[in-house]
Amino acid sequence: ETIAGLLAAAVADHGEREALVFVEHGVRLTYAEFGAAVDRLATGLLNLGISRGDRVGIWSPNRPEWVLTQFATVRIGAILVNVNPAYRVGELEYALRHVGVRCLILAESFKKSNYVSMIQHVAPELMFSAPGALMAANLPDLRIVVRMGDSRSTPGILNFAEIADTPADPARLDAITRTLHRDDAINIQFTSGTTGLPKGATLSHMNLVNNGHFVTATIALGPEDRLCIPVPLYHCFGMGMGVLGCVSKGATMVFPGEGFDPDVTLNAVADERCTALYGVPTMFSAMLDSAGFAHHDLSSLRTGIMAGSPCPIEVMKRVQRDMNMREVTIAYGMTETAPVSFQSHIDDPLDKRVTTVGRIHPHVEVRLVDGEGHTVPVGMPGELLTRGYSVMKGYWGEPARTAEAIDADGWMHTGDLATLDAEGYCNIVGRVKDMLIRGGENIYPREVEEYLFQHPAVQLVQVFGVPDERYGEEVCAWVVPKPGASLCADELREFAAARMAHFKVPRYVRIKDELPTTVTGKAQKFIMRKAMMEELG
Ligand code: ATP
Ligand code: MG
Repeated sequence: ETIAGLLAAAVADHGEREALVFVEHGVRLTYAEFGAAVDRLATGLLNLGISRGDRVGIWSPNRPEWVLTQFATVRIGAILVNVNPAYRVGELEYALRHVGVRCLILAESFKKSNYVSMIQHVAPELMFSAPGALMAANLPDLRIVVRMGDSRSTPGILNFAEIADTPADPARLDAITRTLHRDDAINIQFTSGTTGLPKGATLSHMNLVNNGHFVTATIALGPEDRLCIPVPLYHCFGMGMGVLGCVSKGATMVFPGEGFDPDVTLNAVADERCTALYGVPTMFSAMLDSAGFAHHDLSSLRTGIMAGSPCPIEVMKRVQRDMNMREVTIAYGMTETAPVSFQSHIDDPLDKRVTTVGRIHPHVEVRLVDGEGHTVPVGMPGELLTRGYSVMKGYWGEPARTAEAIDADGWMHTGDLATLDAEGYCNIVGRVKDMLIRGGENIYPREVEEYLFQHPAVQLVQVFGVPDERYGEEVCAWVVPKPGASLCADELREFAAARMAHFKVPRYVRIKDELPTTVTGKAQKFIMRKAMMEELG
């Protein structure tokens, strides 16, 4: 099955049901209306000369145009390229050039970034050339730039609304859609950039359609469900687990706003009577700790998924108890595996659901290996390898990095350390590269973080290693206190010393207002480590 086929089935089976709601934009579409809008846009893109295999970039926060573009590109076999809304000029240029984007669809702006002026900076010729004739010196493939939003015209830039208004030509579209194959590359997603430069994972229909299905099957999502999606669309959490997961079940997608805001999200859940909610751990923490939390009616919620980075047990417990998400689950995955490979099931015992990432998904194999590639015994940490339908085709244009990640037998080397218990429940211990060795002792930052998290004044905490002459590495913690709480470094070190072996107690504790994160809210330890190394000389 292709992604185009997935939408066609939802239109046929659930045409009159609500497909998507964008609260901030006041947009509501049924599946029938959505399918028709996709066909208009797809026809418009065909008329621009975009064809199968062309890369179409989308650079936008969560907006209706994003989801329309997601399905319009697959309808004509073009490869959608998700461009991170937080990118600045240099990153944009890298992404566009790296995958040879031919058409870029952009929003006006997001947060403090003005997208139009940034693209004009990268491709100044754009200002003077006619659309389609554009030749950007440093971006030889870029021919077409399309802008969403109001109609103020800029030379060389086309207007999204006009293209999306093209009369649909379903016969012409069907002729193309019929020739698509499930193994075609259909989407390039850049990894989050948590550990360094983002990589462009190339995914197929097969990867995405099936993963979307299994993710929402595990939380028993059905046509009556309404899923609130505050996570970014550019990331697989939003566009895969969220959008494709909903379309495969005929469920309703509810997008609170362009970016994440805890109160806006809680309002959307209450007003739209959402039954399910997605988020990364920092989003759930922010919602639980928001001043107005108690005033929101969350009685409609039943389930949801927390994923994307280590999920503190304390936060999971509060989500389960205080947000009425009785059937909340945790998922583990990565962009390269479209994305989920482990997920707890709503029927799993509560303690497994809040403390592990569940068991392996159907049709995916798993192995844990030590540094020499030998399978480790049950209960021992090893690098997590997965294999199956979900593994990406490769990193776009980077055969060497692809071969490093996916071995000759098809195993994806995740770079994550995990343990499996006798029943197959998995714990993510941390990234292989984040494990630190202090004076010969292995220290897993995740474990230290869990202890520090128990301190009542701690809202966020990240633990990482910094080089040390005497011990090889030393433990360092960056901590954000809860709003209004006071916390000092010595007090937290004492708290730690009472609970863990001396070598794990952070030597350095720094109290911060915020932590460096990706737009998905993942803490970027490589940036913290660099800052500490500069501070310590
Ligand atoms: P990059 O590869 O660019 O450094 P990234 O690995 O963060 O960034 P993603 O593909 O978005 O990019 O994230 C996948 C990673 O997120 C996993 O490899 C894992 O480290 C982490 N992760 C995802 N879900 C969980 C989870 N439930 N528990 C712990 N870690 C998780
Ligand atoms: Mg990664």
